Amino acid sequence: MISARTGQNIARCIGCQYCDVEAEDKDIPLGALIYMAVLDDEACLESRTLWSEEVLQKAPRACAEGLNLKQIIIALREEARQRSAWS
Ligand code: SF4
Repeated sequence: MISARTGQNIARCIGCQYCDVEAEDKDIPLGALIYMAVLDDEACLESRTLWSEEVLQKAPRACAEGLNLKQIIIALREEARQRSAWS
């Protein structure tokens, strides 16, 4: 899904956590969120980190593995909205 929406291969995420950002309202580190998406863990769609505007603003456009995390966050939000509309 992420690949189709962003053209990025999130399987490149190695869970290194170098992308973590400071944000008042996050619940898990940004890297953990991305790694949960790699593992197809649906719980990532309900994470406060995913919906934090501060995280989105601070997310790197190119992480340690060259992933554009802003694009990935937006794609995950779109997926969450679609899934909630279907249920
Ligand atoms: S920096 Fe990139 S590779 Fe490392 S955890 Fe974050 S998203 Fe994954």
